[in-house]
Amino acid sequence: MTTPHLRNYIGGQWIESESGEVFDDLDPATGKVIATATKSGKADVERAVEAAQRARDAWRLYPAPKRGEILYRAGEIMLQRKEQLAREMTSEMGKVLAEARGDIQEGIDMTYYTAGEGRRQFGDVVPAELPNKWAMSMRHPLGVVAAITPWNFPFAIPTWKIMPALVLGNAVVFKPASYTPMLAVRLVEILEEAGLPKGVLNLVLGPGGALGDALVTHPGVDLVSFTGSSDVGAHISEIAGRLLKRVSCELGGKNAIVVLDDADVDLSLEGIVWSAFGTSGQRCTAASRVITHRGVAKDLVDKLVARTKKLRMGHGLEATTDVGPVVSKDAQEKIQSYIPIAEREGATVAAGGQIPTAGALANGFFHEPTVLIDVKPNMRVAQEEIFGPVTAVIEVRDLDEAIKVLNSTKYGLSCSVYTKNVNNAFRFMRDAETGLVYVNAGTIGAEIQLPFGGMKSTGNGHREAGRAALDVYSEWKSIYVDYSGKLQRAQMDEPSTAS
Ligand code: NDP
Repeated sequence: MTTPHLRNYIGGQWIESESGEVFDDLDPATGKVIATATKSGKADVERAVEAAQRARDAWRLYPAPKRGEILYRAGEIMLQRKEQLAREMTSEMGKVLAEARGDIQEGIDMTYYTAGEGRRQFGDVVPAELPNKWAMSMRHPLGVVAAITPWNFPFAIPTWKIMPALVLGNAVVFKPASYTPMLAVRLVEILEEAGLPKGVLNLVLGPGGALGDALVTHPGVDLVSFTGSSDVGAHISEIAGRLLKRVSCELGGKNAIVVLDDADVDLSLEGIVWSAFGTSGQRCTAASRVITHRGVAKDLVDKLVARTKKLRMGHGLEATTDVGPVVSKDAQEKIQSYIPIAEREGATVAAGGQIPTAGALANGFFHEPTVLIDVKPNMRVAQEEIFGPVTAVIEVRDLDEAIKVLNSTKYGLSCSVYTKNVNNAFRFMRDAETGLVYVNAGTIGAEIQLPFGGMKSTGNGHREAGRAALDVYSEWKSIYVDYSGKLQRAQMDEPSTAS
């Protein structure tokens, strides 16, 4: 069987990059090449942005309900291809098949939900302070949106950006993560089949770095919508900020599950295992900290360690696999580097902690699910995003201390509390400094109809998904129509009360 080759999509054509260079797309469970992809650079970015600029006006003027209908058709195609897409995702980035199906489903949900915005996009009509004057607001598209996405949700996250951008009348240049070009190509193919006009969506494949900088600083790009690491997010914000470009950033997390002494410990255990080790801990909302009340700490840790040791690593397409590989050798090494850091600072490895070196697992990029105990809130493993199957258990004496520890990192994405006490639950909901809060559930599993994003250094104040996404991909325009036939001066003229 020949290895598939993936190309750019620019101006409605599937084309090679100007350089003609390629890069490999690997299955992280086996280390084998599953596809090659064209490697783009600055010249390809230029072509993609120019194509988007050429298409943007016609698309802006195409009626929004009709834009929404194209999205509905894309949603239908996604539904038909769900299983095939999920299998390709597992092979491309490693998450187990059930989770890959969830990723595709989230993309379908987002696409259908956003399609409905074709017939909403409500503005306000409000009373004017002067007679015979009309006052209203409406949304206006930004122009060309650069959508830069990570590999951990290679289908869902691109839909969070591309669908609202399109339905609001923007053209898009999509730069997916280099680890997941195949899923990006599949999404673009679907939108092409659904009838998206040429040039409205353009795809450039290739490594961040020079390509990314060229895209972010291109004068034809009006908004940079970025999801990824805090380091790259800060870099993008800096170079785009100098050009006064709009930038939306969704960045890292150091999420925590809090277990209070009145919690159902067995239920919390389910939430911890799912949130810490699902997608091999590579979700931005992964529970990389467990903050437990001393009263239940021993029971919880004993059960967590026993459960963690039983988790089976393997290829995500195998039904027996609980935990798949991490995305790359670099990721595997970075995760492993935190084990001696933790031990030097006084933490203890209670489960896992190793890279498997025997059998088929040694060919892929696996890391054992790991539980660290004796962790203090200021240790590096309790502060830094490890982005792997590692969770750090911190003991506290009460709810106040739990909230203090929870809020003690620079991140503010997701958290949860396990408690049967409604007063504790409400205090927690009020005081948690995170964009997502769960009660008696883990830290993962957001639904697309509510805003998604984080406080503090997890972002720059924007939210994806839900109605909030519309504010990222459009500007407000306030319109006044004076039909009095004379000069009327707001804040100065008094309307007559005579009838
Ligand atoms: P990276 O920041 O490494 O990469 C994200 C994207 O940015 C990739 O497409 C990457 O390309 C690209 N990129 C890299 N350098 C540049 C540059 N100079 N200019 C423009 N683009 C660039 O993140 P990961 O892909 O490793 O994703 C993991 C991170 O994403 C974690 O920190 C996680 O917490 C975060 N994340 C946040 C979410 C949220 O909503 N808050 C959701 C999901 C993930 P390339 O792949 O070619 O390097």
